[in-house]
Amino acid sequence: MTKIFFLGECMVELRELDDSTMGHSFAGDVYNSAVYMKRCFPTITVSMITAIGRDRLSEKMLSRFKSEDLDTQFVFQHPSKVAGMYFIETDSAGERRFTYWRNDSAAKKVVQFLTDDVVEQLTAADMFFFSGIPLAIIDEDSRDAFWQKLARLKQAGVKLVFDPNYRAQLWASKDAAIEQFNKAFQISDIALPGVEDLSVLYGIASAEEAIDFCQQYQLEELVVKNGPKSVVTQIGTERHSHQITPVTNVVDTTSAGDAFNGVYLGARLSGRSVFEAVQLGAKAAGTVIQHPGAIAPLAAFKQAMSEVGI
Ligand code: ADP
Repeated sequence: MTKIFFLGECMVELRELDDSTMGHSFAGDVYNSAVYMKRCFPTITVSMITAIGRDRLSEKMLSRFKSEDLDTQFVFQHPSKVAGMYFIETDSAGERRFTYWRNDSAAKKVVQFLTDDVVEQLTAADMFFFSGIPLAIIDEDSRDAFWQKLARLKQAGVKLVFDPNYRAQLWASKDAAIEQFNKAFQISDIALPGVEDLSVLYGIASAEEAIDFCQQYQLEELVVKNGPKSVVTQIGTERHSHQITPVTNVVDTTSAGDAFNGVYLGARLSGRSVFEAVQLGAKAAGTVIQHPGAIAPLAAFKQAMSEVGI
């Protein structure tokens, strides 16, 4: 059976419904990818690795994971920490603003739950996905242990997949991010960077420059996302620029890259070609950006994916 682990943080998302009422949902980059992969490829076992609390919202988050058919065997419940949270507001010009409460989030502690015994169980996976966001938030003193655990997975033949998803506010400095990203690119088999992420850190201006930058690493599969402009892939020495059909009705670009990642990797795990996987990933991303929030409604998403045979 095909199996993938997504390691990261899912957060409680708060939105104002009216002057006195908040609505909540759940989102976070690796969680979003996991959801979209499972919706498109239900036969793959899609597992979250994270830490949540024992508070009511963490319990609801866990229920949500289950209702999205995600495997929760490695969702750990910290005895005293709680789930991270953010409030999203849209100003009169349509600009979104985020306020975060994540300094005390349980997900920062996830590495302490990855005991040798757990890591041995994780070696059963085909893929292990992580991004720059969990890398930024895990406690600094657990980073070395994190890299050792990933080395064990790689040695066992698990394909390591990395998306930098650079968020400046989560890092002490650009240099700190560059140092950790270098380790991530070095150990990974597959990378799915966005041009925008790399441009801030490395001054990269195009998908081709991003591909050139990655030549220093031993990646067997490289997929560079560049918004509606293109997706450029390099498999071995074979480079290809894929056209994206731009969506005109863009409502909210949150989680476009996450949807792309989940569906692209699901397609690859299901034996599809890189070309097909890019088209499916792009269809998912192009659908998600026509809906507000990170997770598009199930029915609308399924309807759109059925147009491409999913
Ligand atoms: P990220 O969200 O990681 O920054 P991108 O902005 O490159 O990533 O978007 C991810 C994917 O979303 C792209 O590869 C593309 O398939 C799709 N996408 C983004 N913007 C558009 C758009 N305006 N029209 C159609 N597809 C889009």
